[in-house]
Amino acid sequence: MNRVYNFSAGPSMLPLSVLETAASELICYGESGMSVMEMSHRSPDYEAIIFEARDNLRKLMNIPDNYKILFLQGGASTQFASVCYNLLTGTGKADYIVSGQFSKKAYQEAKKYGDVRVVASSEDKNNSYVPTVSREDFRPDIDYVHICYNNTIYGTKFPYIPDTGDVPLVADMSSCILSEPVDVTKFGVIYAGAQKNVAPAGLTIVIVREDLLGRCRPDTPAMFDWKLMADNDSMYNTPPCYPIYIAGLVFKWLLANGGLEAMKAYNDKKAATLYDYLDSQSYYVAPVEKASRSIMNVTFVTGDPDLDKKFASEAAKAGFKNIKGHRSVGGMRASIYNAMPIEGVEKLVAFMKAFAEANPKK
Ligand SMILES: *Cc1c(COP(=O)(O)O)cnc(C)c1O
Repeated sequence: MNRVYNFSAGPSMLPLSVLETAASELICYGESGMSVMEMSHRSPDYEAIIFEARDNLRKLMNIPDNYKILFLQGGASTQFASVCYNLLTGTGKADYIVSGQFSKKAYQEAKKYGDVRVVASSEDKNNSYVPTVSREDFRPDIDYVHICYNNTIYGTKFPYIPDTGDVPLVADMSSCILSEPVDVTKFGVIYAGAQKNVAPAGLTIVIVREDLLGRCRPDTPAMFDWKLMADNDSMYNTPPCYPIYIAGLVFKWLLANGGLEAMKAYNDKKAATLYDYLDSQSYYVAPVEKASRSIMNVTFVTGDPDLDKKFASEAAKAGFKNIKGHRSVGGMRASIYNAMPIEGVEKLVAFMKAFAEANPKK
């Protein structure tokens, strides 16, 4: 059986060695006599899995002791509301930077819960850049500032971390978590759906500074209450046991391969392979401003919707799957998360060259 190069934006590729380990342990994990899927989350075997995963994530991201790591369910989209339940409780005001669809959805959700404002937006240019915002732009009395650090659909990433002063910065890192080192101390909260760069769908990671716990609205559903989850080691109820186990394997894979510094170097090289080619020719256009380019999601168009369609279908036949762009950008999007090998990107570039030669524009 041949595995393809899967350029899906999410769920997306997992490291082959992780899948192989999971397969070898699928029916019987260690000496437990059962699959991880069949284990009680209260069993010593499972506790070892979840606590090791948590500790390895702390090591990988260099997460200080005054931050809690939560393994939750509901996807990043559930956090759009959870952030409000937990944090929009001081003045009830928050500022959102809208740089794509997910940050817009987060903003629209937050509007239900308080006095929420768009402080800057890149919608004027179809989100092809990340707005520059400085400390004076934020209202001084807000409970937090919200950003989406990497915009999965448009292929942009914040080239800077906004300076919010003493106001907590909340970041959706669903499509860039673990792609490179980040200074966690610059953020009050980091959250991410796992299915882009960490694990199968079903797990949501929340990293929250301790002093931000215990502020939630009185009507907060238990499942949304970060403090309750932190006090119960993410096991107030049944956690997403199997995705956490796979995440743990991915964390070990990252640690064994040099951690996030090494991952950044590898990801930079992969992204440069595509961007250097895109910048060297005129058949394809990369719509994103250079300073805001994502190293995880690379968007490009031919400028002709029929050619774009043909490209996606021929690419799929050649083993480059899920490269069609999101309908709001059109064209193509190559999502090149951690598990995409550089050979996949090099072969894609070779395919792009051949396609351009075989399909001259009229
Ligand atoms: C995929 C994605 C989401 C949505 O995640 P779900 O887990 O499906 O809710 C939110 N934000 C970003 C940046 C994403 O890439």
